[in-house]
Amino acid sequence: MQLKLLWDLQELDLAISAVKQQIEEVPALSGVEETAEQFEELQRDITEKESRLKNDRKALKNLEMRTQKIFDDRKELNENMYGGKVTSVKELEQMQRKMDLLAEEKKRIEDDILILMEAVEEQEHLLEEKEAELEKCRQELQKKETALAENLDRLDRDLSALEVKRAELAEKIETKYINKYNMLVEKHQGGQALARVEEDICGGCRVFISSAHRGHLYNPGAMVYCENCGRLLVKLDN
Ligand SMILES: [Zn+2]
Repeated sequence: MQLKLLWDLQELDLAISAVKQQIEEVPALSGVEETAEQFEELQRDITEKESRLKNDRKALKNLEMRTQKIFDDRKELNENMYGGKVTSVKELEQMQRKMDLLAEEKKRIEDDILILMEAVEEQEHLLEEKEAELEKCRQELQKKETALAENLDRLDRDLSALEVKRAELAEKIETKYINKYNMLVEKHQGGQALARVEEDICGGCRVFISSAHRGHLYNPGAMVYCENCGRLLVKLDN
């Protein structure tokens, strides 16, 4: 019976629509995008921390070079002061003053070096933590991407199988029924062109079918439409 086949065609079309909708929705639901964003955020954070660490290490190296320079200058001053070459009291006083200033600077720089060394150590530790976090995030992203790809593969296979079935079924249905169906599908939201008659009620709009109208349903060749929603009515035995 053509109407039964047409009903089966609609069932297949609805199943195809559902799978297509899933294919559209599955990427957003997979969480891949969120995890990828998290991954990028971590990468940016690490890059920033690395650059700061690099700067601090450079500053530390400069301070260490400065302390070496102070050490050398003091040594030279010391040699000049006690080498017997300089005898002017005024000059010796000036040299002593310079010596004291260098000693003060040395003390300041050594304090700065300690602070900076602690900061560098802390940053190295933080960076290690962030890198471990990044690795964990990378694994999670990979897991989610794999799951999504598998899901999409499965849905694609489901869709292909349904489309093959639909093509086979459509061949068995007369063109006039197919044309009518296509026309009605356009008109009804959700692609429900056909409605089952369930206890004298239209399964599409739930409105009662008049007895006069109902009589036509027993004529296998007739196409009977719901007076309320216009759907093609199908009376199925089961
Ligand atoms: Zn109806």
